[in-house]
This record gives sequence, C-alpha cells and structure tokens, in this order.
Amino acid sequence: MTPEISLTRTRTPLPRPDDSSLSFGKVLTEHMFLMDYEEGRGWHDPRVVPYAPFQMDPATSVLHYGQAVFDGLKAFRGDDGTIRIFRAERHAKRLNKSCAALCIPQMDEDLIRRSFEAIVAADHDWVPRAPGTSLYIRPTVIARDVMLGVHPAHRYTYFVICSPVGSYYKEGVKPVRILATDTHVRAVQGGLGEAKTAANYAASLSAQQEAERAGFTQVLWLDGVERKWIDEVGTMNIMMKIGDEVITPPLAGTILDGVTRNSILTLMRDWGLRVSERRVSIDEVMAAGRDGTLEEMWGTGTAAVVSPVGQLGYKGDVITIGGGQTGALTQKLYEAIVAIQYGRSNDPHGWMSEVKDPVEA
Ligand SMILES: *Cc1c(COP(=O)(O)O)cnc(C)c1O
Repeated sequence: MTPEISLTRTRTPLPRPDDSSLSFGKVLTEHMFLMDYEEGRGWHDPRVVPYAPFQMDPATSVLHYGQAVFDGLKAFRGDDGTIRIFRAERHAKRLNKSCAALCIPQMDEDLIRRSFEAIVAADHDWVPRAPGTSLYIRPTVIARDVMLGVHPAHRYTYFVICSPVGSYYKEGVKPVRILATDTHVRAVQGGLGEAKTAANYAASLSAQQEAERAGFTQVLWLDGVERKWIDEVGTMNIMMKIGDEVITPPLAGTILDGVTRNSILTLMRDWGLRVSERRVSIDEVMAAGRDGTLEEMWGTGTAAVVSPVGQLGYKGDVITIGGGQTGALTQKLYEAIVAIQYGRSNDPHGWMSEVKDPVEA
C-alpha cells in the first residue's frame, strides 16, 4: 500500500482562461502536488495543495548545481468528456530513471502515477475542451539542501504543476527547418543525455540561439565524439524514412527514451513497417536527401506528437525533404496517436488511464 494523498482545496479559485487563448505553459492551474524527502525519513507527506510560490534560501543547492529532473506528459478530455492521461506509468518510470542519474532517491512508481491522477483530478475543470487542447503535466524534483558544498543533497522536493495548453498545430501540422550543428554538443556517452534534466536544456541554449539567428527553427544534434552520428532534434527524438526503411537512432546512452518515440515505433511495427533502431550518419541523410530517397523526416515529443522536417541544413548545404511538405506517414502517425489520446480510436496497448472522481480530503 502506498500512502494516502491529502487534499487541501484552494479558497480563492482562479478564473480559467478561455480555451481559444491558450498557448504553451503560460497559464498554471490552481493546485499543485508536493512531497518531501529527508534523509532518514524517506519520501513523505504526499499532498495536493493550492498553487503557491516556494520560499527558498538563496543557498539552496538546486539553484547552484542544477540537481533537478523533470518530466512532461498530458491529460486529454475525450469527446465523451472522460479525462485520460497518456502513458502515465511510462512517464513515472522515466522520472525515477532520471532521478537515479542525478543521485536523487527513488520514489514509489505507483505513487508517482497517482500524483499525476491526483493533481489532474483536483484541477479537472482546467482540462480544456476545445479541439487539440490538453492539460500539460510537469512533475519536477529539486535538491533542497541549504549549503554551497557540491554533494548530492539530503533533502528534496517533488512537485507537480499543470498548465492548460492550446493546440500545437492550430493551422495543421507544419514542417520546420533544422540545422545540424558540428560546433555544439548536447550530450556524450557517460553524461546525462538519457536523463530529463535541467542541465541538458541549459546546454542546448546557445546552439539553439545560433540556429535561430541563421533562420532555422531547431538544432539537429550530432554525437559528441565523431560529430557524425545523429542523436536528437531540439528536445525531440528524430526519425526518418529512407526508401522503405524507417530509421531512428538507438537508445545507446546519449539520447532520451522518449515516450512518443516508443509509442510511434510500436504503431509502425503494428502496421508491419520496416523499422530500424540503428546509428545513422548526417552524411547518409544528406546523400539520401540529394538522391531523392529521403522521403520523410520528423521529430517526436509530447508537446507536438510529431514535428515534420521540411528542410535540413548542414555545413552550408540545405536539402528540402518531401518537397517541404508533411509526409504521408508523418501525418498518419500524428492522427493515430491523437485519436488514441482523445479516446476516438481503441487503445490496443492500454496507453490511456482514466482519471476518476477527484480525491477527497
Ligand atoms: C522530453 C524529451 C524528448 C521527448 O520525450 P517524450 O517522452 O516523447 O515527450 C526527447 N528528447 C529530449 C532531450 C527530451 O528532453
């Protein structure tokens, strides 16, 4: 038995934004989930409370050394009104895996999953209703020691906040331009690439800024040793279709085990497509782009589901993929995932979990 989650409702309900005004991550809901860790006591006091700022000593360790992990998942309001979370168990497992990479003590995975359900239940009115909208769930763990020595902390806070988000593709799925960088690296073997941690995002900012200044939307990351093998795109996993083979880089230590990546690989295997998790070099992709066999390329991630790549730049060359349009397979994958998320198609792999009535205090 995992512990009960207590609930303290807000006494000052906030006005909910209009569904049509939603973008990404700007509006937060009126409750949050909290749980604390102290050495000797373990994780304790799981609770849903009114959303409020933290008071933090300026010497708090997370503010200096970045011992922080997070995850990101979504709840959807189906056409039948039922609220369902996409792949809560897999996200809970991944959060624990990220914790392990940063010396943060493990949590009970069932309790993590229930923390998602508890916060969504408390803020169920905040799950938007307009087509394409959802409630983004952001679980995070931070180190709370108050001292300037570098050491894994003895105290942590786990919190979950939520944000109602608008449709990523208000005007239909739209291809982006990406730039392969051979000057910056995101992660290396033995580093933190497999963890969803603040540090990886900090490491990505200057390359991202350079790509934007050069007129591209995202960075295509190459491996840190040979600067040759494709790792990820921006903060998404990358896939491409060359001839009749769909290729995605393997989970070999530098890339994140994306839940969308896993879901899409599963669907494509269900459909009998030829799918390879193998190393793929930037030279192979540029050559396939030039000889016309690179049919489609897309990123995968929770925020967008898929993000088609219309153009790819590398060392001054730019190739256009699939005429710069969204490919048929990319579009089909997007529609298949979204149909499962909103409960419009059946869910053969049991990815959706229903959020039941709000927890009672
Ligand atoms: C979150 C993230 C992804 C996508 O993972 P999903 O579980 O599909 O959202 C991919 N790469 C990186 C670096 C990420 O942080």
